[in-house]
Amino acid sequence: MPYTIVSDICEGAADCIPVCPVDCIHWPDTELKNDKGFKYPYIDMDTCIDCGACLAACPVEGAILDDAQPELQKI
Ligand code: SF4
Ligand code: SF4
Repeated sequence: MPYTIVSDICEGAADCIPVCPVDCIHWPDTELKNDKGFKYPYIDMDTCIDCGACLAACPVEGAILDDAQPELQKI
């Protein structure tokens, strides 16, 4: 099951992006900011291979879920 970045909890540090082995974490095309005022990336759920590297790298508790909840990713 693909992972999810919870857009409104993410703090945009992007530690998750370089550790993804399939390069499926992307920035939205627009300069969207979340409720905390941060830009946030999202996970392409069609490409995610469920490895967990992003969750291990993320310093923000609750920003990445080991579950597919696309309604929590604002793109
Ligand atoms: S999901 Fe975590 S590591 Fe990735 S940008 Fe958001 S806060 Fe940073
Ligand atoms: S679980 Fe693995 S493949 Fe999926 S987004 Fe995170 S690092 Fe990338």
